[in-house]
Amino acid sequence: MNRMPSQRVAQILVRAAAPSPPGERHPRVAAVEGFFVRQRDRLVWVHGAMFSLFLCVLFVPLALPEPPENATPFSHFTTFASYGLWGLWFPLVFLSVIFTGRSWCGLLCPMGAASESLNQRGLQRPIPRWLRWEGTPVVSFLFITILGQTVGVRDHPEAVAEVFGGTLLAAMLIGFLYGRNKRAWCRHMCPIGLLLGVFSRIGAVQLVPKRKKLCGDHYTEKGVCPTMIDIPRKVESRHCIECFRCVNPKAKGGLYLRARRPGAEIEAIRDHHANPAEVWFMFLGAGAALGGFLWLVLPAYQALRQRVGEWFIERKWFWIGETGPSWLMSVHPERREVFNWLDFFMIVGFMLACMLLLAAVLAVTTALAAWISGCIGGDRSFSQRFVELGYQYTPVAMMSLILGLGGELFETLSYLGLGAYIGTAKGLVFLLGLVWSVYLGERILARQGAAPRRRWLPLLPGTAGSVLVGLAWWPAIFGVQRDAGNILF
Ligand code: SF4
Ligand code: SF4
Repeated sequence: MNRMPSQRVAQILVRAAAPSPPGERHPRVAAVEGFFVRQRDRLVWVHGAMFSLFLCVLFVPLALPEPPENATPFSHFTTFASYGLWGLWFPLVFLSVIFTGRSWCGLLCPMGAASESLNQRGLQRPIPRWLRWEGTPVVSFLFITILGQTVGVRDHPEAVAEVFGGTLLAAMLIGFLYGRNKRAWCRHMCPIGLLLGVFSRIGAVQLVPKRKKLCGDHYTEKGVCPTMIDIPRKVESRHCIECFRCVNPKAKGGLYLRARRPGAEIEAIRDHHANPAEVWFMFLGAGAALGGFLWLVLPAYQALRQRVGEWFIERKWFWIGETGPSWLMSVHPERREVFNWLDFFMIVGFMLACMLLLAAVLAVTTALAAWISGCIGGDRSFSQRFVELGYQYTPVAMMSLILGLGGELFETLSYLGLGAYIGTAKGLVFLLGLVWSVYLGERILARQGAAPRRRWLPLLPGTAGSVLVGLAWWPAIFGVQRDAGNILF
Protein backbone atom coordinates (compact mmCIF):
# COMPACT_ATOMS: atom_id res chain seq x y z
CA MET A 1 0.00 0.00 0.00
CA ASN A 2 1.37 3.42 -0.93
CA ARG A 3 0.98 5.58 2.21
CA MET A 4 2.98 8.57 1.05
CA PRO A 5 0.08 10.74 -0.13
CA SER A 6 -1.78 10.42 3.17
CA GLN A 7 1.41 11.13 5.13
CA ARG A 8 1.97 14.24 3.07
CA VAL A 9 -1.63 15.33 3.72
CA ALA A 10 -1.10 14.71 7.43
CA GLN A 11 2.08 16.82 7.43
CA ILE A 12 0.29 19.66 5.67
CA LEU A 13 -2.53 19.49 8.20
CA VAL A 14 -0.11 19.53 11.12
CA ARG A 15 1.53 22.63 9.68
CA ALA A 16 -1.88 24.26 9.16
CA ALA A 17 -2.87 23.57 12.74
CA ALA A 18 0.46 24.66 14.22
CA PRO A 19 0.34 28.08 15.85
CA SER A 20 2.03 30.94 14.07
CA PRO A 21 4.30 33.11 16.24
CA PRO A 22 2.70 36.26 17.73
CA GLY A 23 4.62 38.49 15.30
CA GLU A 24 3.00 36.82 12.29
CA ARG A 25 -0.56 37.48 13.39
CA HIS A 26 -2.99 39.76 11.63
CA PRO A 27 -2.68 43.22 13.24
CA ARG A 28 -6.42 43.19 14.08
CA VAL A 29 -6.02 40.05 16.19
CA ALA A 30 -3.19 41.72 18.10
CA ALA A 31 -5.39 44.81 18.51
CA VAL A 32 -8.26 42.75 19.95
CA GLU A 33 -5.84 41.09 22.35
CA GLY A 34 -4.47 44.48 23.39
CA PHE A 35 -7.99 45.82 23.98
CA PHE A 36 -8.99 42.99 26.31
CA VAL A 37 -5.70 43.09 28.19
CA ARG A 38 -6.13 46.83 28.76
CA GLN A 39 -9.76 46.46 29.86
CA ARG A 40 -9.13 43.41 32.08
CA ASP A 41 -9.41 45.34 35.33
CA ARG A 42 -12.68 46.97 34.24
CA LEU A 43 -14.36 43.62 33.67
CA VAL A 44 -15.56 43.68 37.25
CA TRP A 45 -18.06 46.41 36.24
CA VAL A 46 -19.31 44.33 33.33
CA HIS A 47 -19.73 41.36 35.66
CA GLY A 48 -21.61 43.50 38.18
CA ALA A 49 -24.00 44.76 35.48
CA MET A 50 -24.55 41.24 34.13
CA PHE A 51 -25.19 39.93 37.65
CA SER A 52 -27.86 42.62 38.25
CA LEU A 53 -29.49 41.91 34.88
CA PHE A 54 -29.42 38.18 35.60
CA LEU A 55 -31.16 38.66 38.94
CA CYS A 56 -33.82 40.85 37.29
CA VAL A 57 -34.50 38.23 34.60
CA LEU A 58 -34.77 35.48 37.22
CA PHE A 59 -36.79 37.15 39.93
CA VAL A 60 -38.71 40.23 38.69
CA PRO A 61 -41.27 38.11 36.74
CA LEU A 62 -42.25 36.46 40.06
CA ALA A 63 -43.57 39.80 41.29
CA LEU A 64 -45.46 40.72 38.11
CA PRO A 65 -49.01 39.81 37.06
CA GLU A 66 -49.44 37.04 34.47
CA PRO A 67 -48.72 38.27 30.93
CA PRO A 68 -51.78 38.33 28.65
CA GLU A 69 -51.94 35.70 25.90
CA ASN A 70 -50.96 38.19 23.21
CA ALA A 71 -48.02 39.65 25.18
CA THR A 72 -44.80 40.23 23.23
CA PRO A 73 -41.24 40.82 24.50
CA PHE A 74 -41.89 44.52 23.93
CA SER A 75 -45.12 44.69 25.93
CA HIS A 76 -44.51 42.59 29.08
CA PHE A 77 -41.31 42.06 31.10
CA THR A 78 -42.06 38.38 31.83
CA THR A 79 -42.28 37.64 28.10
CA PHE A 80 -39.19 39.74 27.52
CA ALA A 81 -37.26 37.81 30.20
CA SER A 82 -38.33 34.47 28.73
CA TYR A 83 -37.40 35.56 25.21
CA GLY A 84 -34.10 36.95 26.49
CA LEU A 85 -33.21 33.63 28.11
CA TRP A 86 -34.34 31.16 25.45
CA GLY A 87 -34.49 33.25 22.29
CA LEU A 88 -31.28 35.22 22.73
CA TRP A 89 -29.03 34.03 25.52
CA PHE A 90 -29.18 30.29 24.89
CA PRO A 91 -28.70 30.17 21.10
CA LEU A 92 -26.36 33.16 20.92
CA VAL A 93 -24.00 31.86 23.59
CA PHE A 94 -23.71 28.58 21.69
CA LEU A 95 -23.33 30.33 18.33
CA SER A 96 -20.73 32.69 19.78
CA VAL A 97 -18.29 29.85 20.48
CA ILE A 98 -17.83 29.40 16.72
CA PHE A 99 -16.55 32.94 16.41
CA THR A 100 -15.06 33.78 19.78
CA GLY A 101 -14.65 30.54 21.76
CA ARG A 102 -15.70 30.70 25.42
CA SER A 103 -15.63 34.48 25.56
CA TRP A 104 -19.07 34.39 27.22
CA CYS A 105 -17.56 32.56 30.18
CA GLY A 106 -14.56 34.82 30.69
CA LEU A 107 -16.05 38.18 29.80
CA LEU A 108 -19.76 38.15 30.58
CA CYS A 109 -21.11 35.19 32.56
CA PRO A 110 -22.50 36.38 35.91
CA MET A 111 -22.46 32.90 37.45
CA GLY A 112 -18.78 32.23 36.86
CA ALA A 113 -17.88 35.74 37.97
CA ALA A 114 -19.95 35.41 41.18
CA SER A 115 -18.33 32.06 41.92
CA GLU A 116 -14.84 33.50 41.50
CA SER A 117 -15.64 36.64 43.45
CA LEU A 118 -16.80 34.59 46.45
CA ASN A 119 -13.75 32.36 46.06
CA GLN A 120 -11.48 35.31 46.82
CA ARG A 121 -13.28 35.80 50.16
CA GLY A 122 -14.01 32.16 50.87
CA LEU A 123 -12.46 29.18 52.63
CA GLN A 124 -10.12 28.32 49.71
CA ARG A 125 -10.00 24.63 50.53
CA PRO A 126 -8.24 22.23 48.12
CA ILE A 127 -10.54 21.06 45.33
CA PRO A 128 -11.81 17.62 46.42
CA ARG A 129 -11.51 14.50 44.27
CA TRP A 130 -15.26 14.06 43.84
CA LEU A 131 -15.39 17.49 42.21
CA ARG A 132 -12.43 16.76 39.97
CA TRP A 133 -14.00 13.53 38.72
CA GLU A 134 -14.55 13.74 34.94
CA GLY A 135 -18.13 12.58 35.32
CA THR A 136 -19.16 15.46 37.63
CA PRO A 137 -20.07 17.96 34.86
CA VAL A 138 -21.88 15.18 32.99
CA VAL A 139 -24.02 14.40 36.05
CA SER A 140 -24.57 18.12 36.59
CA PHE A 141 -25.68 18.60 32.96
CA LEU A 142 -28.07 15.65 33.07
CA PHE A 143 -29.52 16.69 36.43
CA ILE A 144 -30.24 20.26 35.34
CA THR A 145 -31.52 19.26 31.88
CA ILE A 146 -33.96 16.72 33.31
CA LEU A 147 -35.06 18.90 36.23
CA GLY A 148 -35.60 21.76 33.79
CA GLN A 149 -38.07 19.60 31.88
CA THR A 150 -39.99 18.25 34.86
CA VAL A 151 -40.50 21.71 36.39
CA GLY A 152 -41.20 23.35 33.00
CA VAL A 153 -38.29 25.77 32.92
CA ARG A 154 -39.19 27.08 29.47
CA ASP A 155 -42.75 27.96 30.44
CA HIS A 156 -42.83 29.12 34.06
CA PRO A 157 -40.98 31.99 35.76
CA GLU A 158 -41.03 30.04 39.06
CA ALA A 159 -39.13 27.21 37.39
CA VAL A 160 -36.64 29.65 35.86
CA ALA A 161 -36.01 31.11 39.33
CA GLU A 162 -35.58 27.62 40.80
CA VAL A 163 -33.30 26.14 38.13
CA PHE A 164 -31.13 29.18 37.35
CA GLY A 165 -31.28 30.58 40.88
CA GLY A 166 -30.32 27.17 42.30
CA THR A 167 -27.47 26.86 39.81
CA LEU A 168 -26.24 30.34 40.74
CA LEU A 169 -26.36 29.45 44.44
CA ALA A 170 -24.45 26.21 43.83
CA ALA A 171 -21.82 28.11 41.78
CA MET A 172 -21.37 30.59 44.62
CA LEU A 173 -21.18 27.87 47.24
CA ILE A 174 -18.57 25.86 45.33
CA GLY A 175 -16.65 29.08 44.76
CA PHE A 176 -16.80 29.94 48.45
CA LEU A 177 -15.55 26.52 49.51
CA TYR A 178 -12.97 25.32 46.99
CA GLY A 179 -9.86 26.51 45.18
CA ARG A 180 -7.54 29.47 45.65
CA ASN A 181 -8.36 32.26 43.19
CA LYS A 182 -9.92 29.65 40.94
CA ARG A 183 -13.19 28.81 39.25
CA ALA A 184 -13.63 25.20 40.39
CA TRP A 185 -17.31 25.49 39.45
CA CYS A 186 -16.56 26.45 35.85
CA ARG A 187 -13.99 23.73 35.30
CA HIS A 188 -15.71 20.91 37.14
CA MET A 189 -19.39 21.40 37.69
CA CYS A 190 -21.11 23.98 35.50
CA PRO A 191 -23.92 22.17 33.63
CA ILE A 192 -23.14 23.96 30.38
CA GLY A 193 -19.40 24.49 30.84
CA LEU A 194 -18.50 21.12 29.36
CA LEU A 195 -20.86 21.66 26.42
CA LEU A 196 -19.36 25.08 25.71
CA GLY A 197 -15.93 23.51 26.11
CA VAL A 198 -16.56 20.82 23.48
CA PHE A 199 -18.03 23.33 21.06
CA SER A 200 -15.23 25.84 21.64
CA ARG A 201 -12.92 23.37 19.94
CA ILE A 202 -14.44 24.43 16.63
CA GLY A 203 -14.03 28.11 17.52
CA ALA A 204 -12.19 30.59 15.30
CA VAL A 205 -9.90 31.85 18.05
CA GLN A 206 -7.59 30.27 20.56
CA LEU A 207 -4.99 31.30 23.09
CA VAL A 208 -1.68 29.54 22.57
CA PRO A 209 1.56 29.48 24.57
CA LYS A 210 4.40 31.66 23.33
CA ARG A 211 6.83 29.15 24.80
CA LYS A 212 5.40 25.73 24.57
CA LYS A 213 6.30 22.83 26.84
CA LEU A 214 5.78 19.49 25.19
CA CYS A 215 4.00 16.46 26.74
CA GLY A 216 0.46 17.71 26.52
CA ASP A 217 -2.22 19.34 28.61
CA HIS A 218 -1.80 19.33 32.36
CA TYR A 219 -4.02 20.24 35.34
CA THR A 220 -2.55 22.55 37.95
CA GLU A 221 -3.99 24.57 40.83
CA LYS A 222 -0.80 26.57 41.20
CA GLY A 223 -0.75 28.97 38.26
CA VAL A 224 -2.64 32.12 37.33
CA CYS A 225 -5.30 30.30 35.31
CA PRO A 226 -8.72 30.21 37.04
CA THR A 227 -9.60 26.96 35.27
CA MET A 228 -6.43 25.16 36.29
CA ILE A 229 -4.69 25.06 32.89
CA ASP A 230 -0.92 24.66 33.01
CA ILE A 231 -0.24 27.62 30.71
CA PRO A 232 2.92 26.49 28.83
CA ARG A 233 1.41 23.05 28.25
CA LYS A 234 -1.96 24.20 26.96
CA VAL A 235 -2.95 22.32 23.81
CA GLU A 236 -6.76 22.37 23.90
CA SER A 237 -9.40 25.09 23.96
CA ARG A 238 -12.12 23.51 26.00
CA HIS A 239 -11.17 24.69 29.50
CA CYS A 240 -10.01 28.16 28.44
CA ILE A 241 -12.61 30.78 29.34
CA GLU A 242 -10.66 33.60 27.64
CA CYS A 243 -10.21 35.72 30.72
CA PHE A 244 -6.92 37.10 29.27
CA ARG A 245 -5.27 36.83 32.68
CA CYS A 246 -2.31 34.92 31.28
CA VAL A 247 -1.83 37.35 28.38
CA ASN A 248 0.80 40.06 28.47
CA PRO A 249 1.86 41.27 25.02
CA LYS A 250 5.19 42.56 26.37
CA ALA A 251 6.18 39.37 28.21
CA LYS A 252 8.11 36.52 26.63
CA GLY A 253 5.91 33.89 28.26
CA GLY A 254 2.19 33.36 28.74
CA LEU A 255 -0.38 33.01 25.99
CA TYR A 256 -1.28 35.06 22.96
CA LEU A 257 -4.49 35.33 20.98
CA ARG A 258 -4.54 33.71 17.58
CA ALA A 259 -7.18 33.36 14.87
CA ARG A 260 -7.59 30.00 13.20
CA ARG A 261 -9.81 28.27 10.71
CA PRO A 262 -13.05 27.20 12.48
CA GLY A 263 -12.86 23.46 13.09
CA ALA A 264 -9.03 23.32 12.79
CA GLU A 265 -8.65 21.93 16.32
CA ILE A 266 -10.97 19.05 15.56
CA GLU A 267 -9.33 18.31 12.21
CA ALA A 268 -6.11 17.75 14.16
CA ILE A 269 -7.80 16.51 17.33
CA ARG A 270 -5.03 14.05 18.14
CA ASP A 271 -2.74 17.01 18.83
CA HIS A 272 -5.29 18.62 21.15
CA HIS A 273 -5.91 16.11 23.90
CA ALA A 274 -8.68 13.99 22.38
CA ASN A 275 -10.61 12.73 25.36
CA PRO A 276 -12.98 9.73 25.68
CA ALA A 277 -15.00 11.35 28.52
CA GLU A 278 -15.70 14.35 26.32
CA VAL A 279 -16.85 12.21 23.39
CA TRP A 280 -19.16 10.14 25.59
CA PHE A 281 -20.53 13.32 27.11
CA MET A 282 -21.32 14.63 23.62
CA PHE A 283 -23.10 11.39 22.70
CA LEU A 284 -25.09 11.27 25.98
CA GLY A 285 -25.75 15.00 26.26
CA ALA A 286 -27.07 15.28 22.69
CA GLY A 287 -29.49 12.42 23.39
CA ALA A 288 -30.72 13.86 26.70
CA ALA A 289 -31.32 17.31 25.18
CA LEU A 290 -33.12 15.65 22.28
CA GLY A 291 -35.37 13.67 24.65
CA GLY A 292 -36.13 16.88 26.51
CA PHE A 293 -37.66 18.30 23.38
CA LEU A 294 -39.19 15.23 21.75
CA TRP A 295 -41.52 14.37 24.64
CA LEU A 296 -43.20 17.73 24.08
CA VAL A 297 -43.86 17.29 20.39
CA LEU A 298 -44.25 13.57 19.66
CA PRO A 299 -47.83 12.24 19.66
CA ALA A 300 -46.30 8.79 20.26
CA TYR A 301 -45.11 9.98 23.67
CA GLN A 302 -48.66 10.88 24.72
CA ALA A 303 -49.93 7.48 23.54
CA LEU A 304 -47.20 5.70 25.49
CA ARG A 305 -47.94 7.79 28.57
CA GLN A 306 -51.61 6.85 28.35
CA ARG A 307 -50.79 3.14 28.15
CA VAL A 308 -48.37 3.30 31.07
CA GLY A 309 -50.98 5.21 33.12
CA GLU A 310 -53.62 2.56 32.40
CA TRP A 311 -51.18 -0.17 33.42
CA PHE A 312 -50.76 1.47 36.84
CA ILE A 313 -54.51 2.07 37.29
CA GLU A 314 -55.32 -1.56 36.44
CA ARG A 315 -53.14 -2.52 39.43
CA LYS A 316 -54.91 0.08 41.58
CA TRP A 317 -51.67 2.05 42.08
CA PHE A 318 -53.55 5.33 42.14
CA TRP A 319 -50.66 7.33 43.63
CA ILE A 320 -49.28 7.56 40.09
CA GLY A 321 -52.00 10.10 39.29
CA GLU A 322 -51.23 12.29 42.30
CA THR A 323 -49.34 15.54 42.09
CA GLY A 324 -45.86 15.73 43.59
CA PRO A 325 -43.94 18.67 45.08
CA SER A 326 -43.76 21.80 42.94
CA TRP A 327 -39.94 21.98 43.23
CA LEU A 328 -39.77 18.63 41.42
CA MET A 329 -42.53 18.90 38.84
CA SER A 330 -44.67 21.52 37.16
CA VAL A 331 -47.72 22.38 39.29
CA HIS A 332 -49.40 25.42 37.74
CA PRO A 333 -53.18 25.00 37.65
CA GLU A 334 -53.55 28.71 36.85
CA ARG A 335 -51.74 28.01 33.54
CA ARG A 336 -53.55 24.71 33.00
CA GLU A 337 -50.43 22.59 33.57
CA VAL A 338 -50.31 20.14 36.46
CA PHE A 339 -47.90 17.21 36.34
CA ASN A 340 -48.35 14.08 38.40
CA TRP A 341 -45.95 11.27 39.25
CA LEU A 342 -46.76 9.57 35.96
CA ASP A 343 -45.62 12.66 34.06
CA PHE A 344 -42.51 12.91 36.20
CA PHE A 345 -41.41 9.32 35.67
CA MET A 346 -42.39 9.35 32.00
CA ILE A 347 -40.38 12.50 31.26
CA VAL A 348 -37.33 11.27 33.17
CA GLY A 349 -37.57 7.78 31.64
CA PHE A 350 -38.13 9.12 28.12
CA MET A 351 -35.16 11.48 28.32
CA LEU A 352 -32.88 8.78 29.69
CA ALA A 353 -34.07 6.33 27.01
CA CYS A 354 -33.40 8.89 24.24
CA MET A 355 -30.01 9.56 25.75
CA LEU A 356 -29.01 5.89 25.78
CA LEU A 357 -30.47 5.24 22.32
CA LEU A 358 -28.73 8.13 20.59
CA ALA A 359 -25.47 7.39 22.42
CA ALA A 360 -25.71 3.74 21.31
CA VAL A 361 -26.39 4.71 17.68
CA LEU A 362 -23.48 7.15 17.60
CA ALA A 363 -21.23 4.64 19.34
CA VAL A 364 -22.05 2.02 16.68
CA THR A 365 -21.53 4.36 13.72
CA THR A 366 -18.29 5.67 15.23
CA ALA A 367 -17.05 2.15 16.02
CA LEU A 368 -17.77 1.08 12.44
CA ALA A 369 -15.93 4.11 11.07
CA ALA A 370 -12.96 3.44 13.40
CA TRP A 371 -12.83 -0.23 12.42
CA ILE A 372 -13.00 0.46 8.66
CA SER A 373 -10.41 3.20 9.04
CA GLY A 374 -8.07 0.63 10.59
CA CYS A 375 -8.70 -1.73 7.65
CA ILE A 376 -7.72 0.87 5.06
CA GLY A 377 -4.55 2.15 6.67
CA GLY A 378 -5.72 4.19 9.67
CA ASP A 379 -3.01 4.30 12.34
CA ARG A 380 -3.18 3.95 16.14
CA SER A 381 -5.44 1.64 18.14
CA PHE A 382 -9.15 1.11 17.58
CA SER A 383 -10.11 3.04 20.73
CA GLN A 384 -7.93 6.02 19.78
CA ARG A 385 -9.45 6.12 16.31
CA PHE A 386 -12.91 5.83 17.92
CA VAL A 387 -12.33 8.81 20.18
CA GLU A 388 -10.90 10.94 17.36
CA LEU A 389 -13.78 10.12 15.02
CA GLY A 390 -16.33 10.81 17.78
CA TYR A 391 -15.49 14.51 17.45
CA GLN A 392 -16.81 14.64 13.89
CA TYR A 393 -20.36 15.03 15.29
CA THR A 394 -19.54 18.30 17.07
CA PRO A 395 -20.99 20.70 14.45
CA VAL A 396 -24.17 18.74 13.77
CA ALA A 397 -24.78 18.28 17.51
CA MET A 398 -24.25 21.98 18.12
CA MET A 399 -26.45 23.17 15.25
CA SER A 400 -29.22 20.75 16.25
CA LEU A 401 -29.08 22.01 19.82
CA ILE A 402 -29.26 25.63 18.68
CA LEU A 403 -32.14 24.94 16.31
CA GLY A 404 -34.07 22.66 18.63
CA LEU A 405 -33.71 24.36 21.98
CA GLY A 406 -33.00 27.88 20.76
CA GLY A 407 -35.68 27.96 18.10
CA GLU A 408 -37.11 31.23 19.47
CA LEU A 409 -34.09 33.02 18.02
CA PHE A 410 -35.52 32.38 14.59
CA GLU A 411 -38.86 33.83 15.66
CA THR A 412 -37.01 37.16 15.66
CA LEU A 413 -37.34 37.02 11.88
CA SER A 414 -41.12 37.25 12.23
CA TYR A 415 -40.75 40.44 14.34
CA LEU A 416 -38.81 41.82 11.35
CA GLY A 417 -41.55 40.79 8.92
CA LEU A 418 -39.46 37.91 7.55
CA GLY A 419 -41.49 35.06 9.08
CA ALA A 420 -41.73 33.29 5.72
CA TYR A 421 -37.96 32.67 5.77
CA ILE A 422 -37.77 30.97 9.18
CA GLY A 423 -37.86 27.46 7.68
CA THR A 424 -35.21 28.36 5.09
CA ALA A 425 -32.94 29.89 7.75
CA LYS A 426 -33.26 26.83 9.97
CA GLY A 427 -32.68 24.50 7.02
CA LEU A 428 -29.49 26.34 6.05
CA VAL A 429 -28.10 26.26 9.59
CA PHE A 430 -28.92 22.56 9.84
CA LEU A 431 -27.28 21.85 6.47
CA LEU A 432 -24.19 23.76 7.53
CA GLY A 433 -23.85 21.55 10.63
CA LEU A 434 -24.30 18.38 8.58
CA VAL A 435 -21.83 19.27 5.83
CA TRP A 436 -19.31 20.52 8.36
CA SER A 437 -19.52 17.27 10.33
CA VAL A 438 -18.93 15.20 7.19
CA TYR A 439 -16.00 17.43 6.25
CA LEU A 440 -14.45 17.05 9.72
CA GLY A 441 -14.92 13.29 9.53
CA GLU A 442 -12.97 13.25 6.26
CA ARG A 443 -10.18 15.39 7.73
CA ILE A 444 -9.87 13.21 10.82
CA LEU A 445 -9.66 10.13 8.61
CA ALA A 446 -7.00 11.82 6.51
CA ARG A 447 -4.98 12.49 9.65
CA GLN A 448 -5.36 8.85 10.64
CA GLY A 449 -3.79 7.93 7.33
CA ALA A 450 -6.86 6.22 5.83
CA ALA A 451 -6.20 5.62 2.12
CA PRO A 452 -7.63 8.58 0.15
CA ARG A 453 -9.38 6.52 -2.51
CA ARG A 454 -11.18 4.34 0.04
CA ARG A 455 -11.76 7.01 2.65
CA TRP A 456 -15.41 7.26 1.64
CA LEU A 457 -15.94 3.82 3.22
CA PRO A 458 -15.40 4.83 6.89
CA LEU A 459 -16.98 8.17 6.05
CA LEU A 460 -20.28 6.43 5.31
CA PRO A 461 -21.12 5.33 8.90
CA GLY A 462 -19.95 8.72 10.22
CA THR A 463 -22.21 10.50 7.76
CA ALA A 464 -25.06 8.15 8.66
CA GLY A 465 -24.55 9.10 12.33
CA SER A 466 -24.67 12.82 11.51
CA VAL A 467 -27.79 12.35 9.37
CA LEU A 468 -29.43 10.35 12.17
CA VAL A 469 -28.74 13.11 14.70
CA GLY A 470 -30.34 15.55 12.29
CA LEU A 471 -33.33 13.30 11.59
CA ALA A 472 -33.87 12.74 15.31
CA TRP A 473 -34.07 16.51 15.81
CA TRP A 474 -36.27 16.98 12.73
CA PRO A 475 -39.65 17.08 14.56
CA ALA A 476 -38.22 19.52 17.08
CA ILE A 477 -36.68 21.78 14.43
CA PHE A 478 -39.17 21.72 11.60
CA GLY A 479 -42.08 19.65 12.75
CA VAL A 480 -44.97 19.71 15.19
CA GLN A 481 -45.44 22.89 17.21
CA ARG A 482 -45.01 22.33 20.92
CA ASP A 483 -48.01 22.44 23.23
CA ALA A 484 -47.05 21.57 26.76
CA GLY A 485 -50.30 22.75 28.32
CA ASN A 486 -53.33 20.74 29.39
CA ILE A 487 -51.45 17.69 30.56
CA LEU A 488 -53.81 16.25 33.14
CA PHE A 489 -53.86 12.52 33.58
S1 SF4 B 1 -18.49 27.58 32.91
FE1 SF4 B 1 -20.63 28.00 33.35
S2 SF4 B 1 -20.67 29.31 35.17
FE2 SF4 B 1 -18.57 29.27 34.36
S3 SF4 B 1 -18.47 31.07 33.13
FE3 SF4 B 1 -19.01 29.39 31.73
S4 SF4 B 1 -21.27 29.33 31.67
FE4 SF4 B 1 -20.64 30.65 33.38
S1 SF4 C 1 -5.55 29.82 29.75
FE1 SF4 C 1 -5.34 32.04 30.17
S2 SF4 C 1 -7.09 32.99 29.12
FE2 SF4 C 1 -7.51 30.81 29.27
S3 SF4 C 1 -8.67 30.62 31.16
FE3 SF4 C 1 -6.55 30.25 31.70
S4 SF4 C 1 -5.77 32.25 32.33
FE4 SF4 C 1 -7.70 32.63 31.25
